[in-house]
Amino acid sequence: MAKTKFIFVTGGVMSGIGKGVATSSIGKILQSKGYSVTAIKIDPYINVDAGTMTPTEHGEVFVTDDGLETDQDLGNYERFLDTNILSGNYMTTGRVYLSVINRERNLEYGGKNVEVVPDIPLEVISRIKRAAKTTKADFVLIEIGGTVGEYQNILFLEAARMLKTENPEDVLIFLVSYLPVPNKIGEMKTKPTQYAARSLNSVGIQPDFILCRSEQPVDEVRKNKIALFCSVPKNHVIASPDVDFIYEIPVNYDDERLGEKILSALKLKVKTKDLKDWRKEVERIRGIDKKIKIGIVGKYFNSGNFMLADSYISVIESVKQAAWSNGYKPEIEWISSEDFEEDPKSIKRLKQLDGVIIPGGFGSRGIEGKISTVKFLRENNIPLLGICYGMQIICIEFARNVCGLKGANTTEIDQETKYPVIDIMPEQKKNLKEKNYGATMRLGAYPAQLKTGTIAYSTYKTEAISERHRHRWEVSPEYIETLESKGLVFSGKSPNGKLMEIAELKQKDHPFLLGTQFHPEFKTRFMKPHPIFNAFMKAAVKGKEGKK
Ligand code: GLN
Repeated sequence: MAKTKFIFVTGGVMSGIGKGVATSSIGKILQSKGYSVTAIKIDPYINVDAGTMTPTEHGEVFVTDDGLETDQDLGNYERFLDTNILSGNYMTTGRVYLSVINRERNLEYGGKNVEVVPDIPLEVISRIKRAAKTTKADFVLIEIGGTVGEYQNILFLEAARMLKTENPEDVLIFLVSYLPVPNKIGEMKTKPTQYAARSLNSVGIQPDFILCRSEQPVDEVRKNKIALFCSVPKNHVIASPDVDFIYEIPVNYDDERLGEKILSALKLKVKTKDLKDWRKEVERIRGIDKKIKIGIVGKYFNSGNFMLADSYISVIESVKQAAWSNGYKPEIEWISSEDFEEDPKSIKRLKQLDGVIIPGGFGSRGIEGKISTVKFLRENNIPLLGICYGMQIICIEFARNVCGLKGANTTEIDQETKYPVIDIMPEQKKNLKEKNYGATMRLGAYPAQLKTGTIAYSTYKTEAISERHRHRWEVSPEYIETLESKGLVFSGKSPNGKLMEIAELKQKDHPFLLGTQFHPEFKTRFMKPHPIFNAFMKAAVKGKEGKK
């Protein structure tokens, strides 16, 4: 087997320029040339995983099949590379230090003086190598979070330097940089990129490639300048202008012949050329002009649209994939459920939508507004997909308004409720009592059995499924019979029949009202919308076309 190649992706100038998507796109390009690829994300913060951070602070918490709560970039890797990325491909400063300290406590350093350098970078390298070994990928891409020049990621850059020094033939360093065009000057500036390259130089790293993020493609004059002042061959300065949608990026890289250039730098050959389907799909999406309106009803605070897009990225990408597959461009409307609590009549605005999603969530804020949302959509035959908390809310609404259990609730909000239709399992009770919050939810992939003759079954076309979870509460077994007797169908259950995984209304009662206790959004891939989102979108399209 050929030796594994490692590509580090660092960021310069500023954050938020799309390093994760750049990493995913480099991976896609290498896959299209016939190589297997995996990607690792390194986050500089002390949190041991992303589970304890609020999404408004850090963006979505993505969950891997093997149950780690990670950064949203792993979702991008999965969607672009169409492969499962597992927990070994994610690390934070906290995670790395924790294992070094634990090993030291267990005398595994044999009495040696354990030091920040080299022991922390060595631990990082050993994790990277472990991921390479388990995935057996030809290429391991390692995205280093943060921006070069800051303190926080310095030990990760040191790991990159050490690995490259030992294996100069097998390691490449990318710098993803930003070239601003200041309004008053009207000219694209390369100096910040030069500083970023110098920052890398100052920690002993010379970038091999520079990806130039900018509004317009970087021109030849500036490519020359960057090449000269950053000591990079000119054909390794790659234009990466803004795009309408992220899946165009691999196409742009391919047009810049990035794959060929990487392979030639590593003395490898192009084995296949296979970006054809991807290109065709990008072209098709560009040409779509029909629009469909999807509302996302949640509790939103202190956040402009940008923040929201980050907090719900997998949901949004799933909506897009499903809409594109059905020949539509989605128009997403963010709706704060608290608005319906303040002004109940305003709920009528939901009528303008072709479909609504109530995504996952925690805590009591905005919950009554979400319950009213379910009621309105149920009574007005508007398609609804409830995800996790959304599914629990579907059950609460049904219990209250169809089964007549007034005041039914989840014990997450009301511990004294007379009808705890959503309740916590005993082992979770213990976790909460001991304030044992980190990584203790029901996390990762669990199997479920589907009931034939249901929407769920006709959606998946199979009885056995596996989906990713992230929650503590469950539908209480005490209420299943009551809910089912009034027409709510639990069409997906855990294999032992105890945990309710999917709740739906019969098609004769509603065009599409379905909730999943799991998060289908984590398994959408480019060109492969998740079946649940696809079924929801088909119902939305049917409703929209019916209205005409
Ligand atoms: N708060 C709910 C629970 O913990 C739902 C979580 C979610 O939507 N991810 O069960």
